[in-house]
Amino acid sequence: SVEQDGVPAAARERHAELSELINEANWRYYVLDAPTVSDAEYDAWMREIKELEEAHPELRTPDSPTQRVGAPISTTFAKVRHVQRMESLDNAFSDEELAAWEARTRRMLEREPGPYLCELKIDGLAISLLYEKGRLVRAATRGDGVVGEDVTHNVRTIAEVPYRLSGDDVPDLLEVRGEVYLTVAAFEELNRRLLDEGKQPFANPRNSAAGSLRQKDPRITAQRDLHVICHGIGRWDGSEVPKAQSETYERFKAMGLPVSDLYRVVDTLDEVREFIAYYQRHRHDTPYEIDGVVVKVDDFGKQRQLGSTARAPRWAIAYKYPPVEVTTKLLGIEVSV
Ligand code: NAD
Repeated sequence: SVEQDGVPAAARERHAELSELINEANWRYYVLDAPTVSDAEYDAWMREIKELEEAHPELRTPDSPTQRVGAPISTTFAKVRHVQRMESLDNAFSDEELAAWEARTRRMLEREPGPYLCELKIDGLAISLLYEKGRLVRAATRGDGVVGEDVTHNVRTIAEVPYRLSGDDVPDLLEVRGEVYLTVAAFEELNRRLLDEGKQPFANPRNSAAGSLRQKDPRITAQRDLHVICHGIGRWDGSEVPKAQSETYERFKAMGLPVSDLYRVVDTLDEVREFIAYYQRHRHDTPYEIDGVVVKVDDFGKQRQLGSTARAPRWAIAYKYPPVEVTTKLLGIEVSV
């Protein structure tokens, strides 16, 4: 094989092929809300391209799918620049990968990474809510992480999202990160209705939430039973900033922002493992679809010290459960979720 910059031609070709497959899948998933490959297949492509880049770092160019978040945004909505960049999460698919993340974190910090905050990885779509002096002024999708879509009118139809924050601890400027989702029951109900109307059903709850939120007409969004769970800070200015992830959730709650109560703060990696195993067994007992568990270093001082890579924070990891290829029969039409 012909080598270029020390990279064998076969590796270069496979890298180009995978980039194209992933970019196309990103567009169908993030822009059209209609994926044509399973998440497991997509994750396998991502894993393969990462391995190629580890073997041949020359292939890791800034436009590689491994260095980017999401997809270029559609033209349906106005573009907005996030105050703080929105990131993705790195994945662990096995206990060894989880342990490797812990070891890396410990090495970088030169101290104990714990306590850890363990929570559910909601299979919804990422949202950023911007509050100025406690008033909701803007809501945006993640887009490519830097620029997202303005979906303020649509988000205003979600009852759970406060229009005004409450309490006497409201920051001057607050950028909140969260997840918009449909319950599994609402997803099934929506698909049944779409089929009745002769329309295309959604592939899974995540796509149904994205498709419902990203409507041109907010009146359609208002008819969908959308919910939000807040799980992070983009920016917090003008009042005392929380010192930990867990404290953030308490403060969010006090301001009237919806947060999950299915999280736990633990000290050791073994307790993290217990949390992961528990929800693997109870994966289908949660009201919303989950595709794993997110583990976060709780302390913000440690989070700052760890920082981020090009696309994800080093202080968090998404432990992904193996895919379940359940096929639900909806009025005779097979839909894979
Ligand atoms: P991701 O979904 O793996 O993880 C990052 C996102 O998780 C964050 O943006 C955040 O919004 C969300 N999240 C959910 N719960 C959270 C919590 N408790 N705390 C923090 N964040 C939480 O990454 P991604 O970049 O959004 O998407 C990549 C994944 O999307 C792939 O692994 C694949 O499963 C899927 N995908 C599938 C296709 C396809 O064609 N099937 C295409 C593109 C992406």
